Amino acid sequence: MSNFKETVLEINLAHLSHNFKYLKSKLHPEVKFLSVVKASGYGSDVVPLAKHLEKLGTDYFAVAYVSEGIVLRNAGITTPILVLHPQPVNFAACIEYRLEPNIYSKRILECFTEAAHSHNVQEYPIHIKFNTGLNRLGFIADDIAYIVQQLNTHKVLSVQSILSHLAASEDHKERDFTRQQIEVFKKITATFSATLGYTPIVHQCNTSGILNYPDAHFSMVRSGIGLYGYGNDTTYDVNLKPVATLKSVISQIHELAPGETLGYNRAFKATKKTITATIPIGHADGISRQYGMRKGFVLVHGKRAYITGNVCMDMLMIDITDIPCKEGDEVIFFDAHTGANNMAEHAGTISYELLTAIAPRVKRKVI
Ligand code: PLP
Repeated sequence: MSNFKETVLEINLAHLSHNFKYLKSKLHPEVKFLSVVKASGYGSDVVPLAKHLEKLGTDYFAVAYVSEGIVLRNAGITTPILVLHPQPVNFAACIEYRLEPNIYSKRILECFTEAAHSHNVQEYPIHIKFNTGLNRLGFIADDIAYIVQQLNTHKVLSVQSILSHLAASEDHKERDFTRQQIEVFKKITATFSATLGYTPIVHQCNTSGILNYPDAHFSMVRSGIGLYGYGNDTTYDVNLKPVATLKSVISQIHELAPGETLGYNRAFKATKKTITATIPIGHADGISRQYGMRKGFVLVHGKRAYITGNVCMDMLMIDITDIPCKEGDEVIFFDAHTGANNMAEHAGTISYELLTAIAPRVKRKVI
């Protein structure tokens, strides 16, 4: 029985250690490291992953939502946790679980100040986000006087850090724009620190920022995709080791005669004898329909087999006409050698999307 296989997402903690150490080696020893573990650790398995990163010595964690921070606290994580995109409806829980909100607008600052008052907390740790060109979340330089006045009037919040986010740090064509974002942030940092009376932690770089803009590491960096083994840039990818392996198994093999069709909507029609294998993973598991019709592929005994026809909810079919294999054999979607970026890019998306889409019902196995 032990040889029987199923769909499984394997998480390799040795690779995570390697990536953490590699990224840290790019930093001045005094620069802090924040591990971005939102979306359950980019689709992996956040609790074992975060526990491992805590042991490795990460200085901070970041999640997107308060609910994700609660999962970490309930698992015993004690490292500070920044919540990147908190909502006022969750501020009571945020405080209860000692999660540190990213304050990105006047409304959020006012609501969080009120929550801090009503929970009777003092010097509650917060982070102030500035928009330097991504135009997604954040204050602008003109808001600095207002922010500091609010903080000084209420005296219940304590600024741990100021941050901004780069829009295109992986894109060499956008170097001028990124440089401009960095310069704007430097000016904001100087004015904000002078108005506040001290310099909090300062951070702007994501993984590609760490690798491509060493002069913008400031006092902390935030890495997500790099920890999981992808650098967004082939020159760096070779030094990183993908942490997740997604594999499954051939359930059944079918032989289609010319003219026969495959799957829903009869989307694939055989023009010659075609052999297909059915795999127990579908769009409800995170392999979206965009990978169907030969946009996605798996490896069967090291050979590329394209996903043929439409992806179904719980299964998909691959073309194995030229690949000798049998029912029960393993298929690999991505692993440390064939990264998730290969399949993602072939289907017109990015590794982030493929990794984070893997549904909770797919078994996780930490190795
Ligand atoms: N910082 C913020 C605000 C983010 O939203 C993200 C990810 O989306 C990151 C850092 C990490 O980026 P990366 O995964 O490219 O390292």
